[in-house]
Amino acid sequence: MARKNRISHALYLKDWDFKKKDIATLEETAEAIAPGDYLQEMKDGIFCPTCYTPLFRSPSDKPFFSNRRNARYNHYESFLHVPCPLRAPKAIALKYDSEELARQAVENGELAVVHSFQTAAPDVDAQQVGAGGVGYYQDADGPVGSYPISRHKGESFRLPTKISAVSSICRRFDLNLNKYYLLPGRAVALPLTEELLDLATITEEDPNPRLYFAKILHSDRMGANDVVHLRMTYFKCNPKVKDFCLKATIAEQREKGIDDEVRHRYVLIWGAVTASGIGLCINRPKWGEYALLPQKYEPLLPIAEESSM
Ligand SMILES: [Zn+2]
Repeated sequence: MARKNRISHALYLKDWDFKKKDIATLEETAEAIAPGDYLQEMKDGIFCPTCYTPLFRSPSDKPFFSNRRNARYNHYESFLHVPCPLRAPKAIALKYDSEELARQAVENGELAVVHSFQTAAPDVDAQQVGAGGVGYYQDADGPVGSYPISRHKGESFRLPTKISAVSSICRRFDLNLNKYYLLPGRAVALPLTEELLDLATITEEDPNPRLYFAKILHSDRMGANDVVHLRMTYFKCNPKVKDFCLKATIAEQREKGIDDEVRHRYVLIWGAVTASGIGLCINRPKWGEYALLPQKYEPLLPIAEESSM
């Protein structure tokens, strides 16, 4: 199998200068460009989403490849003095020397500790409407938890947590992709890119909840009552699986933008995989456990190659 490309995307902003360190401007105004969407004219304007040093794409000259996924971003040797976790060939679980440093990482947004996902829709007051009419809300504070993410063996740190929603991950997905997450039930903090799994690679039941991304093929309502009856949303699945669907009420899925018309959009979903007839499903996820991914972020998904399924 080809080596996984650790740099999912570059931040493209013409004339931005690493030396001036205006990171806020870069994060707010740069465009996220996947390696396959890179154009020659972006040369000298693409930067690492984690360490912000300039990047180059290899191969550098060909605008199009028979397999666009072979294209990748690389750091320059001349910036080796700037540490970046994305230089490592494999993601390294994040560890801290002290509780203080781990808390700081949570405060400055480098590490997100998700205690759980929201069970029900929050009050309207807490919601905001984002781009494309999708509702977002402020993550609520969760209980303080104890996590073994110390560099010293056997030591745990007490950290503040959030009760979040997958929609919060989808919003600014470009920035969140390389952020470290401690997802519910996990003992290690890994970049989101490492946690995301292509649902089309799954061939059997899995009782452990994981974070999947899935492409909607079609969606069917199973009755007349929107609040009571289910909608079955079918995903692109592995050729070895008969079908794979999400089961949740018609009303709840509509609120998330999923109806009869929605096709070929991607959903991010946290859940266990169970049997459904002779197929598979994610059955009745909690309100906060799934959301439609804004279309502009679809090129950033680490979609598995058909040949590797
Ligand atoms: Zn970097």
